[in-house]
Amino acid sequence: MIGSVDTARGLLLGLLAGDCFGAPFEGAATVGEAAVRTLEQTGEPLRYTDDSALAFAFAAHLAEHGEVRVDRLAREFADTWRAQPWRGYGAGAARLFARIAEGTPWEQAARDQFGGSGSYGNGAAMRVAPAALAARDLGHAAELARQSALPSHAHEDGTLGAVCQAGAAFLAAQQDPGIQLDTTEFLGALSETLASARWRDSLERAGTLLREEAGPERAARELGNGVAAPDSVPAAVYAFLREPDDLAACLRFAIRMAGDTDTIAAMAGALTGARCGPATLPVPWHARLEGAERAVELADRLAVTSSGGAR
Ligand SMILES: [Mg+2]
Repeated sequence: MIGSVDTARGLLLGLLAGDCFGAPFEGAATVGEAAVRTLEQTGEPLRYTDDSALAFAFAAHLAEHGEVRVDRLAREFADTWRAQPWRGYGAGAARLFARIAEGTPWEQAARDQFGGSGSYGNGAAMRVAPAALAARDLGHAAELARQSALPSHAHEDGTLGAVCQAGAAFLAAQQDPGIQLDTTEFLGALSETLASARWRDSLERAGTLLREEAGPERAARELGNGVAAPDSVPAAVYAFLREPDDLAACLRFAIRMAGDTDTIAAMAGALTGARCGPATLPVPWHARLEGAERAVELADRLAVTSSGGAR
């Protein structure tokens, strides 16, 4: 087993690395392995986007309170956007955070998204992984995820995306990286947290694809690779389950699924990082990733303040 500090550092650094390496490919229809390897080898500094910015804000919130205080969290997300609105936020998220920053109650702002149906985008899922570090058990991780989604994702699929990713991060954080991952058991436990036939079907399809060793293109076709939560969270879980022991390989797989590459890789990276700890991060990456020091600082605060912690 790895300790709680290493779990927390691995989770946040993995999330950050996925965001940073995925961002240059965001929106691509296809991504070749050579292009990802070239980016790995350039040595250029890499910037993070909205995924890490909001995950850091959520991690700081949990380190401070040990729980979700929704009114405060809504303001903190809006403040995070307002401080650096150029970090690649989607138009819907920018509009939402602008309204909250202007004083519109989050309940109303979140409900009004997408003509009144609420957002089912992956924005609540991409930032939620730190919930795994403050959760006592899988059910608590799901509850923290639901609460953290409230200020922005009123549609059930937006919320379930956060529940799925937080549950996956919690399960990943429980594991001993020295023991081979049982993917069937992992998907079964995760499926139980999701009271939705659509989401359960999707995880079942991921299990089938794993048995058939489907590559990134086919997995993206069958699981999705878009900005909607149901089209990206199962894809991220799949990338993790394909490469649970090697962050670079996991991110390469996630990015080769194309589409919403920064968010899918950020979610997958959080899972591999939580399982393996920071040792899975190639050493040169620490200096290349904008925000790496912030990730470590937040991880250490979370590991100390989370009472039960991930273990
Ligand atoms: Mg982004």
